[in-house]
Amino acid sequence: MDNAKPASSDRAPSHLFYQSRLRRPLVDRAEGIYLWDQNGKRYIDGSSGAMVVNIGHGNRHVIDTMKKQMDKVTFAYRLHFENEPAEDLAGRIAGYMPEGMDKVFFVSGGSEAVESCLKLARQYAVATGQAQRWKVISRFPSYHGGTLGALAVTGYAALTDPFTAMMKEMPKIPAPTAYLDRDNFSIEERGLRYADKLEEAILAEGPESVLAFIMEPVGGASTGALVAPDSYYGRIREICDRHGVLLIHDEVMSGVGRTGKFLGGDHWNCRPDLIALSKGFGSGYSPLGAMVAPSRMVQPVLDAGGFQHGYTYAGNPLACAAGGAVLDEIERLDLMGNAAAMGDLLKGELVMLSKRFPFIGDVRGKGLLLAAEFVENTVTMQPLAKEKNAFQRVIDIAYDKGLIIYSRRTRGGVEGDHFLVCPPMIVTREQIGEIVAILDDTLQDLASELNL
Ligand code: PLP
Repeated sequence: MDNAKPASSDRAPSHLFYQSRLRRPLVDRAEGIYLWDQNGKRYIDGSSGAMVVNIGHGNRHVIDTMKKQMDKVTFAYRLHFENEPAEDLAGRIAGYMPEGMDKVFFVSGGSEAVESCLKLARQYAVATGQAQRWKVISRFPSYHGGTLGALAVTGYAALTDPFTAMMKEMPKIPAPTAYLDRDNFSIEERGLRYADKLEEAILAEGPESVLAFIMEPVGGASTGALVAPDSYYGRIREICDRHGVLLIHDEVMSGVGRTGKFLGGDHWNCRPDLIALSKGFGSGYSPLGAMVAPSRMVQPVLDAGGFQHGYTYAGNPLACAAGGAVLDEIERLDLMGNAAAMGDLLKGELVMLSKRFPFIGDVRGKGLLLAAEFVENTVTMQPLAKEKNAFQRVIDIAYDKGLIIYSRRTRGGVEGDHFLVCPPMIVTREQIGEIVAILDDTLQDLASELNL
């Protein structure tokens, strides 16, 4: 039985289903930072889909490259043939990585990229005589994907609870929500104290059993673009080194330029052992993701009999041609530079809005991965009451006004509402103005509706 409510009487019940009963209009077309529905209404894609369409919609170079590739060959199984788009893209990606990260394993999405990191880490441990290591510590809240392995390291109760009986849940430490702490420590001291929670967890679990720690260098939707104090990143690396624990960076959302640098971790010169990429990598033109690893980890696994893992669609020529063309555009248009500049501008505007709307307690993020959090008041930083449903109302009000944003109700320990504003990296100064004007209107409506 289909419980979905048709948005209008001319829409038949759908045979599709996703997470909820919510139905949205049919999309008709898209160009740049805009989408149009079938009634001709225009929307600003202020969340790049789900932080995916980094280079914007309808990019001619990507479309033409994909068409050309389709005329040549769209699929050749990787165990039967190598292909040029995959070879080229792997080489170009390696060029953006921290030193030594020279091996690329293609997949089709973020969950697959994270699963691949977990599996390579484990096989590396087995191949190098450390078979007792299997625990992967992660943070709460966090989101690392929907498959059972990625879910086991995800800190998001609503998503994990139905499945705990089916998976091995992994240890979690709190995400570094230093902005919420009301103590006498400086922000950098707090950063160190959050990092030290990893060491406490490793010691509690038994260091010889801990395989890896996985984190998003700049948080995604679950934390609302959470950025740790600078001191956090180096201390995490030190702790991992001290205990022989591998460091996995989930750059599925923060990678491929969105934060103004190729990797979110590049803001702190991070040196993780494994990196997961997706989303902006294919920029919505093709499902595409990758695990990036150093030869020093890959070689022992290959020598021990091969990496026991893979996906049918991995490294297919069409997806890789799309990824290469996306990278061409990021380079040609200096989209990382634009993400940094427009991110600064948009963040400044969000800060201005927070001064006018006192229920915005925090504005954070890097480049065009930005979020604002709602609070009861900025002294206690207590979250808004759940019943207000602020996270849902803000996106619905903005949607009606033609602006798509992203939101969640999760934060460290307690729940809270935040929304993310992450337009495509091609966004212009004028378009930032358009986004901010609609946001301003939206927040005014939200304030009067919820008595804020
Ligand atoms: N990791 C992070 C940080 C994400 O934000 C997501 C998706 O939102 C994933 C992993 C999972 O990616 P996918 O939905 O492509 O499987």
